[in-house]
Amino acid sequence: MAAIETPERAEPTGEAPVESPDVLIVGAGFAGVGMAIRMLGEGFTDFLVIERADEVGGTWRENTYPGCACDIPSRVYSLSFAQNPEWSTGYPRQEEIWDYLRSLIDERGVRPHLRLGHELLDARWSEESGRWAVETSRGEISARVLIAGMGPLTDPAIPDLPGLDRFEGAVFHTAEWDADHDLSGERVAVIGTGASAIQVVPEIQPVVERLSVFQRTAPWIMPRVDREVGEAEKRVYRTFPFVQRALRALHYLLLESRGFPFFIAPKSFPLFERIARRHLARQVPDPELRAKLTPDYTMGCKRVLGSSTYYPALQEPNAELVTDPIAEVRERSIVTADGAERALDTIIFGTGFEIVDLPLGRVIRDREGRRLSDVWDGAPEAYKGTAVAGCPNLFTLLGPNVGLGHNSVIHMIESQISYVLDALRQMRERRLAVVEVRPEAQAAYNERIQAEFEDTVWLTGCRSWYMNEDGRVLALWPASTLRFRAELARFDLAAYEARAASPREPVAA
Ligand code: NAP
Repeated sequence: MAAIETPERAEPTGEAPVESPDVLIVGAGFAGVGMAIRMLGEGFTDFLVIERADEVGGTWRENTYPGCACDIPSRVYSLSFAQNPEWSTGYPRQEEIWDYLRSLIDERGVRPHLRLGHELLDARWSEESGRWAVETSRGEISARVLIAGMGPLTDPAIPDLPGLDRFEGAVFHTAEWDADHDLSGERVAVIGTGASAIQVVPEIQPVVERLSVFQRTAPWIMPRVDREVGEAEKRVYRTFPFVQRALRALHYLLLESRGFPFFIAPKSFPLFERIARRHLARQVPDPELRAKLTPDYTMGCKRVLGSSTYYPALQEPNAELVTDPIAEVRERSIVTADGAERALDTIIFGTGFEIVDLPLGRVIRDREGRRLSDVWDGAPEAYKGTAVAGCPNLFTLLGPNVGLGHNSVIHMIESQISYVLDALRQMRERRLAVVEVRPEAQAAYNERIQAEFEDTVWLTGCRSWYMNEDGRVLALWPASTLRFRAELARFDLAAYEARAASPREPVAA
């Protein structure tokens, strides 16, 4: 079997700190880049951003599979304080989003603060120094405040299929796309029918000889029509940014209204289910195939997908949908439970990400020296998704319970960025060296939001990656994004233990 490449983990060097910024931001995706830009805007200049890769971009650098695009409209899938008048389509493609993030680094003055190729290996709080000792692949960094912006969707999940290691063809995950591998004329399997897979399938179907799509659960798919943004429209946005801002606000509200069936009235989903069923009926005339493609759970329980090209691609003469479970992988084939064997050259996994133990949990320790993944034990929790009890001066962007099923997650990231900025501001003004969320505040917060999930669509019976094995929803925020913004509008110092800086030790800004 062609090996699934995992990047080699660098070992800590054990050297003395090479840099000692006041604030260290980890990760240069939307969260880290957005945080850095806002910090500069507020006059906080003593910070570094470390990024393990040799380029910024986060998930939009990593995911390069054909057809990779955002299913949230470009108008709202950008930072509100760095609008982009140049989007070429209604739904931004991966390369454009990546270009957008790269362009911000120089335009907004982040470059001097950026350290590429620095992987965070281990972060420990030192009570003695009142700082984080951060081991990176390029040496140690000491920082008073640590902001983790690593994102949850970074570690590809590959199912443990019997015999997979015997497979002699090529194997890769959508998030580790092998651009050098030519699929033309090959017999290809795509396993999984989630957001990534349904974007890949229509792109590769015309070039492969035979395409077998292995579906475990039929997803709900809404029609999605994209459009080109013409030069005249871009000129309007360049000249009158308020027009783009107004359209963005409108689009945001439209998406937000889409959220109510998720968290207020799951029973209103049948209306949307009718739209999706009509889309399926219109695009798939064969009743047998249509039955296989019809979801058997309440819409919204898993992520609702959008595509007008996926169903047609499945019906091309060289494509097929396989719903029998995979029994075994052999040297050159996959065998399903019904005994059918399909000869294959390449297997592509569109099987999602390991998210239960958030990637940050493996490398950040609490004040007792325990890794957060051990503390959390499969049930990550934080205060407002942004602070973790037992971790002084740690802020997590896109931490537990911050994801969304209905609107742009950039809105959530921006709420968190404002909250962290207010924390930094208050720490400076009140001359606080350390803030640490109180365990009881974190526990009460999580009890409250977990109770809110009870009436939402996410607990209507499906199994999604939003929840852990105990059925606890970890990946999502249970209410409107407006409420999240309101709850994070000010850094609520009362929920934190705070320690003043000694008079001899000025708090850097
Ligand atoms: P995903 O939504 O988790 O989908 C994984 C797919 O693999 C599902 O169909 C799942 O089936 C299937 N699967 C998992 N394990 C399997 C196994 N052992 N055997 C057979 N099938 C298996 O993953 P994804 O498509 O990579 O997307 C992950 C998330 O990334 C999305 O939910 C979204 O948040 C984000 N994303 C966003 C965009 C965008 O446009 N904004 C695009 C791509 C991804 P089951 O349903 O039965 O589990």
